[in-house]
Amino acid sequence: MKRILITGGAGFIGSHLCTRLLSEGNEVICLDNSFTGSKDNIMHLLGNPRFELVRHDVINPYHVEVDQIYNLACPASPVHYQHNPIKTVKTSVMGAINMLGRAKRVGARILQASTSEVYGDPAIHPQPEPYWGNVNPIGIRSCYDEGKRCAETLFMDYHRQNNVDIKIIRIFNTYGPRMHPNDGRVVSNFIIQALRGEPITIYGEGNQTRSFQYVDDLVEGMVRMMNDSGDFTGPVNLGNPNEFTIRELAEKVIELTGSKSRITYLPLPSDDPRQRQPDITLAGEKLGGWRPTIQLNEGLLKTIGYFQSIIQQTT
Ligand code: NAD
Ligand code: UDP
Repeated sequence: MKRILITGGAGFIGSHLCTRLLSEGNEVICLDNSFTGSKDNIMHLLGNPRFELVRHDVINPYHVEVDQIYNLACPASPVHYQHNPIKTVKTSVMGAINMLGRAKRVGARILQASTSEVYGDPAIHPQPEPYWGNVNPIGIRSCYDEGKRCAETLFMDYHRQNNVDIKIIRIFNTYGPRMHPNDGRVVSNFIIQALRGEPITIYGEGNQTRSFQYVDDLVEGMVRMMNDSGDFTGPVNLGNPNEFTIRELAEKVIELTGSKSRITYLPLPSDDPRQRQPDITLAGEKLGGWRPTIQLNEGLLKTIGYFQSIIQQTT
């Protein structure tokens, strides 16, 4: 049994990680400021004596003795991270400094939830880890992209300078139950719009591509990276290489929900990456043959079921 701190643990990915680590007998401290996360996401864990929820903001130091830290605290959807961009930078950068300081002090291993956004609007396709990216430093996505890039820098420097035991994963678009219904990400938007019979909002012409992984595949990769990757620090890509256009995703959601929604086209936000697909060769080599196992149809059906139940509760 390990004592594990998960920052951002009440969010979409964090809540699945809390559930998984508790099911393996660990003690889990979930630290969250409730910005985009919610108690509802971890309600099923609150009665567990090995689970503790702490309301705290990672931009302030937090003192705790733990064996491992998963640093997930940061809004992930463009709508939320652009809501207060200065706070987003502070969360990534000061949050990383505070958690790395803690890891250094207590000798904990620490994993950073980085992102495919460090590749920006990529000029290389698919994206392998050695690619340095094509990121606009002054655009509306920069608070997130550059914040996450700076956090990677801090992780590497604490490792080189202070020998902190670090792991960096670059997460590609992930979806599943407990995504925030209003966070504006494409999978949740399309499913909710389809279930309500509202127009499906495609930004631009829908030719941009993404590659979506189901949350359980990601959590498996995160746990392997933390526990079974030896002295490999990463960064390593974790994503599903199954790439498709946003228009294809809209059509798939309409088909799987049986919706009568029509598609409507809205302006494309600036700096929206045109294509994205992970090269997961390194993850396979370093993480015991890890690869995603849940295909899009199966993952979407589970997510649709989740949003159906949310909509029923609120109507
Ligand atoms: P989310 O918004 O559901 O979760 C983020 C959590 O962090 C929320 O619970 C929020 O309340 C908390 N938080 C935000 N600012 C905080 C602060 N200052 N102090 C304490 N807690 C704070 O998003 P998610 O999809 O679960 O993403 C989790 C992590 O994974 C993020 O770091 C994100 O950048 C990264 N990531 C996610 C994706 C994805 O597709 N979901 C892709 C790449 C990277
Ligand atoms: N998108 C869209 N309609 C929506 C929400 C998003 O067409 O209602 C597009 C968005 O412009 C982007 C893609 O879907 O090209 C993925 O968006 P998301 O915010 O989920 O993730 P990210 O852009 O961070 O990869």
